[in-house]
Amino acid sequence: MIADGIAAALSALDSEHLRRRRRIVDSPCGARIEADGQLKLSFCSNDYLGLANHPELVEALCAGARRWGAGAGASHLVSGHLRPHELLEQRLAEFTGMPRTLTFSAGYLANLGVVPALVGRGDAIFADRLNHASLIDAAIASRATHQRYPHGDSAALERLLAASTARRKMILTDAVFSMDGDLAPLPELFELAERFDAWLVVDDAHGFGVLGRDGRGTLSHFGLPASPRIVTIGTFGKAAGLAGAFVGGDCNVIEWLLQRARTYVFTTAAPPALAEALLKSVDLIAAAGDRRSHLLALIARLRQGIGAFADQRRWRLADSPTPIQPIVIGDNEAALALAASLDASSILVPAIRPPTVPNGTARLRVSLSAAHSESDVDQLVATLRDS
Ligand SMILES: *Cc1c(COP(=O)(O)O)cnc(C)c1O
Repeated sequence: MIADGIAAALSALDSEHLRRRRRIVDSPCGARIEADGQLKLSFCSNDYLGLANHPELVEALCAGARRWGAGAGASHLVSGHLRPHELLEQRLAEFTGMPRTLTFSAGYLANLGVVPALVGRGDAIFADRLNHASLIDAAIASRATHQRYPHGDSAALERLLAASTARRKMILTDAVFSMDGDLAPLPELFELAERFDAWLVVDDAHGFGVLGRDGRGTLSHFGLPASPRIVTIGTFGKAAGLAGAFVGGDCNVIEWLLQRARTYVFTTAAPPALAEALLKSVDLIAAAGDRRSHLLALIARLRQGIGAFADQRRWRLADSPTPIQPIVIGDNEAALALAASLDASSILVPAIRPPTVPNGTARLRVSLSAAHSESDVDQLVATLRDS
C-alpha cells in the first residue's frame, strides 16, 4: 500500500535519531518560556530585539483587527491589498532606503517568488554553500543552473563567474548565515556583480532590525550603494517580532515581481492587522537603539565569558559579530549531551547536527535577544563552565 513507505521512512528517522519533536510552549516568546510544562531560560528564538511580545505590537495587532477585520479575503492583485498593506510597503521603502518594496507572507515564500521571477532555464545562479534552505529551493524552482561556491569565498565565486557563459547570472546569498552568524562579504560580492553584470540577491533575514544604521540591515551595515541589480529580502518573523517578509529593490524590479512572482500572485494577502502591527514594528525597530546596544553588550559578554574556558574544552566559538553565537563542539553526541545537560539546568539551547551543518561541526547555537539580561548570559556561561 502506498502509505506503508511512510511508516518505514519514519522508523528509519527513529533508528538514525533524526526524528524531530516539538516542545509545546505555554507562554509568549521571551527570555523565559514555559516549555513542556517547565520554566526554561531560552536561547532559541530569533526575537533579537525582544519585540515578539511587546505591548505596543500586541495592541497594534488588536486595533488592526478591530479596524480592518480578521482576514484580507483575497490575494493582493484581486481585492486583498488593503490600505495598511500599501502603507507598510511605503514605510519599508522609506526606512530601508530601497526605491520600492513588496511584502510577502513569509521569507520562505519571498525567496521562492523572487529567484524564479528573475532567472530561469539557460541562466546561472551562483550560491554560497551555506545558504538557507529557502534559497536552495528557490534556485531549484527557477530551473537555472545552480553552482555553489565555498562559504564566503569570493575568489572561488569570481572563477565561476568568469567561466560562465550563461545568458543571465545571479549571485545569491544570505547576508547573515543562520547556523554560523557570520556575514557574507557583500562589498566583494557587489563588485563581482558589477563586473560580471549579475543580479545580487541578498537574504537579510537575520540582519534586518539588528545591523546597520537604525537596524536597516546588512546592506546599510556595509554602506553598499543603491543599485538596480541589488534585491534584498527582509523577514518579519525575527527581529521584527511578527511574521512575513518584504523584498526591496529598484522600482521596475519590484513592479515585475508584483506581476510575476508566483508566491505573491497566487496566495491570499496576509491579514491587514498584521500589516498594522508591522508598521508599529518598523517604528519600534527604528527607535530601538538602546535594545541594539544592549544586545551588542550581551554578545561581547557571552563571547568573553565562554572564550575564557573554550580552549580547555576544545570548543570553538564561531567568529560571529551577530546575536547568533554558535559554540562548535564537533562530535554529534557531545553536542547533544551538552544541550541535554543545559536542559537539565533549565536552559534551552539547540544542538545543531549534520546535515544542517557540515560533518564534524555539531554545535550549540546560542541566540541572544535584547530580552535577555546580563545575568541570563552569566547563568548560561556559568552552567557551561560547570557542565
Ligand atoms: C528564517 C529564514 C528565512 C525564512 O523566513 P520565514 O519568514 O521564517 O519564512 C529565510 N531565509 C533565512 C536566511 C532565514 O533565516
